[in-house]
Amino acid sequence: MKPEGLMPLPYFWPMTTTQSRNVRDTPRHQGQRRLLIEKLREKGIFSEAVLAAMGRVPRHLYLDSAFDRQAYEDVAFQIGAGQTISQPSTVAHQSTLLQVTKGMKVLEIGTGSGYQASVLAEMGAKVFSVERQKELFDRTRLLLPALGYQIRTSYGDGYLGLPSFAPFDRVIVTAGAPFVPDALTHQLAVGGILVIPVDGADGQEMLTIRKEADGSLSEARHGSFRFVPMLGDRVR
Ligand code: SAH
Repeated sequence: MKPEGLMPLPYFWPMTTTQSRNVRDTPRHQGQRRLLIEKLREKGIFSEAVLAAMGRVPRHLYLDSAFDRQAYEDVAFQIGAGQTISQPSTVAHQSTLLQVTKGMKVLEIGTGSGYQASVLAEMGAKVFSVERQKELFDRTRLLLPALGYQIRTSYGDGYLGLPSFAPFDRVIVTAGAPFVPDALTHQLAVGGILVIPVDGADGQEMLTIRKEADGSLSEARHGSFRFVPMLGDRVR
């Protein structure tokens, strides 16, 4: 699956986190969100838990206000620092593969706008998220509580995972990885699932890796997607 288009960023995102979510989530946005959920259903997303969570997260508030009218189209948008918010169908696929249930501890690599993390929080997960770009980390750290989400964000290199909070029931990587980092499988609980797009011939191939009771790892493949690259080390 490929993004249907990537909208250019016209100017720096002037997100104001002081305005409340209720004031800015209008009936028009809610209507557009319902249509998006129907579209995702038509595209084969069957998890009611994922669809319900995505139906509650106000995606337009994670984007530059210039994108307000297109926020519920199934496209990726630039969010600054050369990064993108994944298109909704990709978020829906990854969230479905993750098989999250209430109370699970989930690690996300690549906080970006915070949208994917918020969808997982809406599903009842305790979400920890790592971002390597200081600019995005700073912005999203303020945005999430303003939207009512308690997500533990960290500024760091996702190749290392988040050892101080391991093990995790689920790990999701939202950037295209050149390989599966050992730290992420080490920090997976027994019975845990890692969802990671790994570089292949045509963009990235979505992999799920499950840690079995004997500690061995089993892998399944779920088709091609396109992500911004996972890069090492933190950047200021
Ligand atoms: N989940 C995000 C999608 C962000 S795009 C959302 O919902 O908006 C991928 C993100 O991964 C970018 O923000 C990028 O800066 C970040 N990233 C890339 N390499 C990383 C690494 N090694 N550690 C942590 N984050 C990384």
